[in-house]
Amino acid sequence: MEHDHRVVVLGAGYTGMMTAIRLAHRTRRADVRITLVNPSARFTERLRMHEIAAGRQLADHRIPDLLAGTGISFVRGAATAIDADARTVTVDDGAATLDYDTLVYALGSSADTGRVPGAGEHAFTLDSPQAAVRLAGRLKEIAATGGTVTVCGGGLTGVEAATEIAEAHPGLHVTLVGLDEPGAMMGAKARAHLRRALDRLGVTVKAGARVTKVLPDAVELETGELLPSDACLWTAGVTVSSLAADAGIGVDDRGLVVVDATLRSVSHPEVHAIGDAAAVRLAWGRIHGTCQSGLPTAQYTADTIVRLLRGKRVRPFRFGYIHQPVSLGRRDAVIQFTHADDTPRRAYLKGRAAVLYKETVSSSPVKVYRLSKRMNVTATLSKGGRATRRPAA
Ligand SMILES: Cc1cc2nc3c(=O)[nH]c(=O)nc-3n(C[C@H](O)[C@H](O)[C@H](O)COP(=O)(O)OP(=O)(O)OC[C@H]3O[C@@H](n4cnc5c(N)ncnc54)[C@H](O)[C@@H]3O)c2cc1C
Repeated sequence: MEHDHRVVVLGAGYTGMMTAIRLAHRTRRADVRITLVNPSARFTERLRMHEIAAGRQLADHRIPDLLAGTGISFVRGAATAIDADARTVTVDDGAATLDYDTLVYALGSSADTGRVPGAGEHAFTLDSPQAAVRLAGRLKEIAATGGTVTVCGGGLTGVEAATEIAEAHPGLHVTLVGLDEPGAMMGAKARAHLRRALDRLGVTVKAGARVTKVLPDAVELETGELLPSDACLWTAGVTVSSLAADAGIGVDDRGLVVVDATLRSVSHPEVHAIGDAAAVRLAWGRIHGTCQSGLPTAQYTADTIVRLLRGKRVRPFRFGYIHQPVSLGRRDAVIQFTHADDTPRRAYLKGRAAVLYKETVSSSPVKVYRLSKRMNVTATLSKGGRATRRPAA
């Protein structure tokens, strides 16, 4: 194995943590130095941000604790520039400069509040524990007077947030606004269960509605209708950091790093991109940003780096979706089982069994990190079957 190889992992979210820890375990007898960079020392369980917004306290997982015993150096700070020719990363505008031989780009994504005027100024997001705590504070304030909350974005994050908020604050009037019917990607039975949960919790659904502006006290729809909103939560679409694009690393029209079949940048092969920040194409189509797909990209990348260091051949990445797990407050959930390309199968779970299933999914990443310090654990439950036998060019 190559000596004194420097790997810098940018972002200690679900995927960056996974790659760093698995790589450390797999290279523990080799001269590989791994540095993990993240702005906060707290590990953000993004899957649970809506729980914080509804007033729950989450476990405080500290990144240095999760890394204890791995030999990984943790740098607390934000990467502010990449020099892809010199192979360096600047942290916090020059507070530190890190040299790398291999870079793992795992910066994730955040709510795209740039889509309509006013969203950046007036809408809350679930981008960080701090952002979710700010929303929790506002909801508590307005719950006392029966305030109005508008959740913009009828995707699964919007559904999870709307149901969680409505259940925690029965006095609030919660409206969920989106272009599609909530749960549009699910089968008819799972979608009907999801809709019943929204109705039971008193959430008003406005499907087929486009938000055009967020005002301090209202949300404006394309039709001109104004929805009075004491609080607006933005979950409609995500955006990514411009760091890769600024560095001249090839990105697609959304700013995601364009990767080859082994998840390496097509412009800079020493850069591996994973999770929400990578544009991953498989034979059956494009991966969309989920933890479910992100963790396999992260494990695969740790293994790929090891194989490259050993001069071995790397096989193309393979993955298939298996489920869409959705919480509907704390006491209900729905799990739609899927084909590899995320289209629904007939099977689904609801109620208590689904709540337990969802909780198992949400709590598994931290457990997998702990185990991965000692063994190679797999998070890839489906390789996509026949659909991914011939990876797209
Ligand atoms: C409320 C909610 C519920 C969700 N539920 C599900 C679900 O049930 N199932 C599912 O599969 N997916 C779910 N998702 C999506 C899932 O959270 C993401 O797909 C997943 O977090 C992607 O992992 P990642 O490592 O790419 O990014 P992240 O987990 O977002 O991690 C990115 C990390 O990079 C750090 N970072 C950002 N900028 C910099 C910088 N400049 N320098 C250094 N570090 C930086 C961030 O602070 C963060 O720690 C949900 C998302 C939300 C918001």
